[in-house]
Parts: sequence; C-alpha cells; structure tokens
Amino acid sequence: MTTSFKEPLFIVMMGAPGAGKGTQARLLCEALGIPQVSSGDIFRENLKNQTPLGLLARQYMDKGALVPDDVTINMVMDRLAQPDCAAGAVLDGFPRTLAQAAALDAALRERDLRVRLAPVLEVSDEAVINRLAGRRVCRNCQAMYHLEFNPPAGDPTRCDKCGGELYRRADDDPETVRNRLFVYYKQTAPLVGYYFAHGVLKPVDGDRPIEVVQADLRAAVAALA
Ligand code: ADP
Ligand code: AMP
Repeated sequence: MTTSFKEPLFIVMMGAPGAGKGTQARLLCEALGIPQVSSGDIFRENLKNQTPLGLLARQYMDKGALVPDDVTINMVMDRLAQPDCAAGAVLDGFPRTLAQAAALDAALRERDLRVRLAPVLEVSDEAVINRLAGRRVCRNCQAMYHLEFNPPAGDPTRCDKCGGELYRRADDDPETVRNRLFVYYKQTAPLVGYYFAHGVLKPVDGDRPIEVVQADLRAAVAALA
C-alpha cells in the first residue's frame, strides 16, 4: 500500500471495547509503516515495569474506569512527540473523552497537523461481550488473538509471531466488561459526533471477518492520498 501521503497521517480508531480497534490498528500500521499508539498498551507496559504511572493507572483499569485525563493526555502527547510519529500514527484507545480529543487537536494544530480519519468500528454489544470473553493477548508482543474467532495457528497457548505466552486480560472479566461498556457509552461515544462534525468520521461495519474490515479501512486511507 502506498505511504506517500502529502500530509502526516493521524488516524483515530473509534469503537467500543472489543470492537477490534487494536487488531485493525496493528494491520493498518504494518501496511502504512507508521506506529500504533495504544494508550492501553502503554499503561499495561508501565504496569508490567511497576512504574508510578503504571501503579496509578492500575487503580482505574482494574475497575474498568478511565485513567484521569491529565495523566493520559501527557503520556500520549509525549509518545506522539517521538520522531517515529513524524509521518503520523494510528491511535487506538485514545482519545476517550472530549477533553482528550480537544488536547490532541490542539497539539496537532501547533504543528499545523490534524486528525485525517476517524473510523468507527460498529459492533453490537452482544458481539463485543463475546469477543472480550475469548480475547487472548501475547505477553511479549501484545498481538491479539481470540480463542474461537482468531486462534493462533499452532500451540493454542503461544503467540504465532514470537512464541510469547498468551494471557487473558484481568479487565476482560464479565463484570469489568459491563462497566467498560457503560463508561464507553457515557464518556467516549460522544466523540463519534465530535469527529463527524470535523468531517473525518468513517463508520465501518466491524461485525465482519478481520480481513474484510481491514480492506474497508485501507480503502478509506487510500482515498486520503
Ligand atoms: P479493541 O482494541 O477494540 O478492544 P481487539 O482488537 O482487542 O479490540 O479485539 C477484541 C477481540 O476480538 C480479540 O480477541 C480479537 O482477536 C477479536 N476480534 C477482533 N476483530 C474481530 C473480527 N472482525 N471478528 C471476530 N473477532 C474479532
Ligand atoms: P484498552 O486497552 O484500550 O481497552 O484500555 C484498557 C484500560 O486502560 C481502560 O479501561 C482504561 O482504564 C485505561 N485507558 C486506556 N486508554 C485510556 C484513555 N484514553 N483514557 C483513560 N483511560 C484509558
């Protein structure tokens, strides 16, 4: 896929927890050669390393609540200021509040940049609950699997790509998932209207096989060139 875009490509993946944002973001980044910036992955990496940020974030993540805006915004803006994001990035899990979206816009505007595309992966609540129930993540490279819908080709307990151990996220238990969905509808779903108003929203039916969803996303990105 062409990566010769005139303007850096900042893409924001929208959708409920379990809609497939991380799965699709990773594939899109491989095709575009730009980094995936996942706020959830950065928090989990910090937690693994027992940093003060990770320990703070854990208090919220364990309950399925959002980490406070100031902490999250600083962390993601630091990441986007790294040289590897110069040609753009696919953001996954950020922004999740209107304040985060406004902070992202302001930081990009300072560099004469903007969010170019905000695909929203539309998936029913029933489907996301099933997806989160069977989600497994590689402890080493964060690759995403599903026990039924996207299992590893080889050993069911190991990552195909790096051989790392697959684990179930603590916040994928049914009770925390219910709260995450509630938080999504209350705090994050209003961003769909925000990006619509900015003329960058792209609704995508996320209830189709991974490759079919990815093809739609690549077509939407190609249309920006
Ligand atoms: P999010 O980042 O939006 O929380 P993930 O990308 O982690 O969602 O996907 C959640 C789960 O659903 C994972 O186990 C993943 O393998 C699976 N999944 C993702 N996309 C699809 C799809 N199109 N069809 C079926 N399962 C999917
Ligand atoms: P995710 O990996 O995107 O499902 O995020 C896992 C958890 O990390 C969320 O339930 C929140 O507790 C926290 N988190 C991730 N991204 C954000 C964000 N943009 N704002 C606030 N909290 C976040």
